[in-house]
Amino acid sequence: MNDYDIMIEEIKTVYDFNFKNQTALIRVDFNVPINKYQKIIDDTRIISSIPTINKIISEKGKIVLISHFGRPKGIPSETYSLKFLVNFLSKKLKVPVNFHESCVGKTVIRKINELKTGEILLLENLRFYKEEEKEDEGFAYELSKLGDIYVNDAFGVVHRFHSSITILPKFFGKKKCIGILMKKEIQFLNKFLYGKGKKPITVLLGGSKISSKIEIIENIINFADYLLVGGGMSYPFIKIKGGMIGDSIIEKNQIIEKTLRRIFDKYHNKINVIHLPKDVIIADSFKNEANKKIANIHSIPEGWMGLDIGPCSIKNFEKIIKKSKTILWNGPVGVFEFPNFSLGTKSMAKVIANATEKGSFSLVGGGDSIASLKMEKCEKKISYLSTGGGAMLDSLKNKILPGIKAMKQ
Ligand code: AMP
Repeated sequence: MNDYDIMIEEIKTVYDFNFKNQTALIRVDFNVPINKYQKIIDDTRIISSIPTINKIISEKGKIVLISHFGRPKGIPSETYSLKFLVNFLSKKLKVPVNFHESCVGKTVIRKINELKTGEILLLENLRFYKEEEKEDEGFAYELSKLGDIYVNDAFGVVHRFHSSITILPKFFGKKKCIGILMKKEIQFLNKFLYGKGKKPITVLLGGSKISSKIEIIENIINFADYLLVGGGMSYPFIKIKGGMIGDSIIEKNQIIEKTLRRIFDKYHNKINVIHLPKDVIIADSFKNEANKKIANIHSIPEGWMGLDIGPCSIKNFEKIIKKSKTILWNGPVGVFEFPNFSLGTKSMAKVIANATEKGSFSLVGGGDSIASLKMEKCEKKISYLSTGGGAMLDSLKNKILPGIKAMKQ
């Protein structure tokens, strides 16, 4: 067992408690994407927290739900109010859900005291209080008055140093635990970390910002058999190898360059693990209707930019994924929002889903990768879709997430 396993063993889950006549203060992540009519576009995060809520209700406990929504930066507003969720939650949970427009103070406590067993109270957006994002002891103490048992089921924010995540649990002593969603997320990621998965292990990383994923590369290269790098992330590698990338996206940052050089030096014997695209679809401007053609990724002319991986690269990545037994994917391999440059990303979605159907284990995180699986209607075939993009990436950097550490007894 490694340090991470030992710590996880010490953390209680909702299954360790009986909630009869207890008020559970559940930190959920209801930060769901909505359209301009406040219609939920993707309810995965809410649906995923229902098992925890149902367990507590079935045991005749009372529930107080706390969550953040968007980035209101401490300023209350209609736009970021959680009130719009009341009807949706009542329908999904089949119990009446009450709402209160503040998170701390006497009026909330009065409302909680009026709650009957099996009832739910949803509180207003935690981020209407600037203290939430500042690890504020006083604010966390006020929140701690809202329940008997603290439950954290908000995997999407467990990498954040926020009051309701890292400070609040301290006030509950032994009466704190993680919810069912959080338990699942930790279990599935743990299956991956430290090379525990069945080999060959393949990690596919894409997206535009290499800075958010460079530490992952340094960790994963130690146990992955194949590390496939696509999308905007691939250009810093090509540049460092002396290739010509034209006007393709590149994060200009000396630290990135230094880190990449260090990876090349330190892991020169493992460098074959890293697979970059060989060919790319280049465009003469950043738009769907741009002129496009196939080019070698090392010789992109000035005035042109790589916006998707090319046919040879798709074939090569597909070949590797097909023979992998454990697959992790985060980030699109092109500007998949433009239909004319989405073939690479959609092909990755399909090949990972097919490999999973044939028995491989797959874990996919990050809004864009999940969105592309949904475009291809194959999201249900994936072994596990993570509800936390940033939290998943931080775990893969071999970091023990602060919100998980805070749940240690
Ligand atoms: P990230 O936030 O780093 O995961 O990046 C996701 C974004 O990367 C998506 O919006 C993609 O459109 C974008 N992306 C992927 N490949 C490229 C590329 N070759 N050039 C520009 N943007 C890209």
